[in-house]
Amino acid sequence: MTTVNHIAGSLDRQQALQRLKSGSRFDLLVVGGGATGLGVALDAASRGLSVALVERDDFAQGTSSRSTKLVHGGVRYLAQGNLSLVKEALHERWVLLNNAPHLAHPMPFLVPAYGTRGRLWDRPFYGIGMKVYDLLAGKAGLGDTEVLDRERTTEAMPGVRTEDLVGAVKYWDGQFDDARLAVALARTAAAHGAVVLNHCAVLGLLHADGKVSGATVNDAETGEAIAVQARCVVNATGVWVDELRRLDTRQDSQMVSPSQGIHLAIDREFLPGDHALLVPKTDDGRVMFAVPWLGKVLLGTTDTPRDVIETEPTPLADEVDFILGEAGKVLARKPTQADVRSIWGGLRPLVKSPDDAPRETDKVSREHTVIVDKSGLVTVTGGKWTTYRAMAEDVIARCIEAGLIVSDEPCRTASLRLIGAPASVSHKISDPPGAHLYGDEAALLDDLPGHQRELGAGLTEAMVRFAVRHEGARSVEDVLARRSRVLFLDAQTAAAMAEDVAVLIVDETGRAIDDLAGFRRLAQRYLTLPASARYALRRSQPLELRR
Ligand SMILES: Cc1cc2nc3c(=O)[nH]c(=O)nc-3n(C[C@H](O)[C@H](O)[C@H](O)COP(=O)(O)OP(=O)(O)OC[C@H]3O[C@@H](n4cnc5c(N)ncnc54)[C@H](O)[C@@H]3O)c2cc1C
Repeated sequence: MTTVNHIAGSLDRQQALQRLKSGSRFDLLVVGGGATGLGVALDAASRGLSVALVERDDFAQGTSSRSTKLVHGGVRYLAQGNLSLVKEALHERWVLLNNAPHLAHPMPFLVPAYGTRGRLWDRPFYGIGMKVYDLLAGKAGLGDTEVLDRERTTEAMPGVRTEDLVGAVKYWDGQFDDARLAVALARTAAAHGAVVLNHCAVLGLLHADGKVSGATVNDAETGEAIAVQARCVVNATGVWVDELRRLDTRQDSQMVSPSQGIHLAIDREFLPGDHALLVPKTDDGRVMFAVPWLGKVLLGTTDTPRDVIETEPTPLADEVDFILGEAGKVLARKPTQADVRSIWGGLRPLVKSPDDAPRETDKVSREHTVIVDKSGLVTVTGGKWTTYRAMAEDVIARCIEAGLIVSDEPCRTASLRLIGAPASVSHKISDPPGAHLYGDEAALLDDLPGHQRELGAGLTEAMVRFAVRHEGARSVEDVLARRSRVLFLDAQTAAAMAEDVAVLIVDETGRAIDDLAGFRRLAQRYLTLPASARYALRRSQPLELRR
């Protein structure tokens, strides 16, 4: 086994387990290592509180690695007239772009306007709407909204369908690498003293005098159960919050109403240039994005109510038809099922309306909700990635207000730069993946074995070693889905790289790897489209995996 070099915020599993087992009482135990839980852990740790965070699977393995990867105010909430939500998100967009410039970057968007079916009016209509977006952003604006004629539109976006094209509205938002941002949050929290541990689930809550006093957690690698004492337990388990609340009250309650969104990755040739495309109102009223991301283009998303909460949500045929159909209306080259390099789903934790009114998911609250139960269990859910920091600040304020924790320290996260944040950036998030995503830690890769050996898709042997030594990666999936994003970009390439990655993990940890076959099945899933009624073409070749 190779020795671990100590760098700021290195996630050392053995050390984290020792601290959990030490019997000391934490101020805060956060359950869930997605955007919400990691934000809460960082806020609390940077105020000097003692914090432990446990994540059942991997950081961001739930919804937080499955987003559209936009740091945005929310054009659709603007259309709904929810100006306060948009204003807060635009401020948070600016904060995030400043605090993690290696992982989040401004991106210009075009809203194309066509001279058919009254769409000629779209340009002035959206032009005015997006000017309001600029006004709400104020000093946090990323660039001015412009109305482009047909020629400037095709220059900026060579892949756009030109038939009947009149022009476009250009506006600015941000985009990011969601899973790598989650790891940066975990490491920054650890650098501020938090115990941060993945592959460690909460199985039960501890109570003393009718109040929650900690939790029993289970180390997935050894099966060992550990009792962790805490003054305050925060339930940040996303779409799973009701499960944890049931462990507390033993009563059925449902505060989350999951809504599924899927994405498809296609080659960059479909949308060359560095602009993203937004269709603010598709034929059935939803929005559709085509966004250059890490060398590919992401198409999405959908908004489908789901009752089943799966770790790996299943894309539906209607969702694929909708996305390919809408993309085909605005891209010069229509993508087909055969062009899909990866497909995946995610579940939005939307907070249910109290009256249980019939669900229309685009009308359910996208703002977050914080509840302090009688037992003292604090539950937070809803919101969006862009606002994770503001949500965390709110959660800590509620914990202090409820007398669960004591702190006079102000929130520091608005100006707290995350691990790796460099002084200047030379790449965009839309560029193919590479060492630039490591920010000012990129030079550390040069000191590791294999820094010039690329395994594929911009991932080097040194990056795998770095992922295991410092970024908490424990499995092939952790590396290929979330430290590198190749599973989401090109599932076939991910499958082909799996064995090399497994060998390196074994070399780094000295442990046997048991998820190689499982990862290949997962990659197959990311490559398999549901049977479609409208699109006859099916993937005829089964995925060929290198053994
Ligand atoms: C399709 C889609 C597109 C989106 N696009 C955007 C976007 O472009 N921009 C944006 O700002 N937002 C976007 N969002 C919203 C954003 O992704 C979510 O709001 C955010 O990721 C939710 O994070 P979370 O931490 O609350 O949940 P999660 O990321 O799901 O984290 C909860 C974690 O809790 C863990 N957990 C569950 N039970 C336990 C247990 N018993 N013990 C320990 N851990 C447990 C889970 O494993 C999971 O990792 C999108 C969402 C979806 C679905």
